[in-house]
Amino acid sequence: MTEAQPAEAENRYQVVVYDLDSTVCDTRHRHEFADKVKAGEATWEEYSLQCVDDKPYPGAIKLMQITDRLYRNYILTGRDIVAWDHTVKWLKQEKAPWHMMRMRTPEDPYPSVEYKVKAMLELRDHGADVVLVIEDWPPIVDALEAEGFTVLCVNPRYEEDNPESDKPSFGV
Ligand SMILES: [Mg+2]
Repeated sequence: MTEAQPAEAENRYQVVVYDLDSTVCDTRHRHEFADKVKAGEATWEEYSLQCVDDKPYPGAIKLMQITDRLYRNYILTGRDIVAWDHTVKWLKQEKAPWHMMRMRTPEDPYPSVEYKVKAMLELRDHGADVVLVIEDWPPIVDALEAEGFTVLCVNPRYEEDNPESDKPSFGV
């Protein structure tokens, strides 16, 4: 990637990037469903559709409302695009302002970290000035920081985040 020339720089737009699951949305009620996916009894697409019953994290919603006054809120989620309509409806219902949203499509067959890094680099290459990324999953946070992004890592306070627990995290 090359540095933007002055003329191109004028076209850059400032964005704050938000993860959804476990950052803005409390996904705890879906975790048992994730077990079914891992057991081959359901799909990740079906798991994503469970988002209709997510509870919001009020602090994250408030932050989206604050950053919306200064920047464009860009949602980058690993949630499957099959849940697009549900997600748009939920964001409206919870008064979470956003300008753009990127969801996982069949063209994104990558692991979570790779998917998000790739999407963020594309966003930057397309002229976005990424002011801040809000993300809950440490491996993604580490990978984005390694690419030079400034990231605020939030903690959804899930049981599986307890280092004493052997449960996997579904927070992506
Ligand atoms: Mg997440």
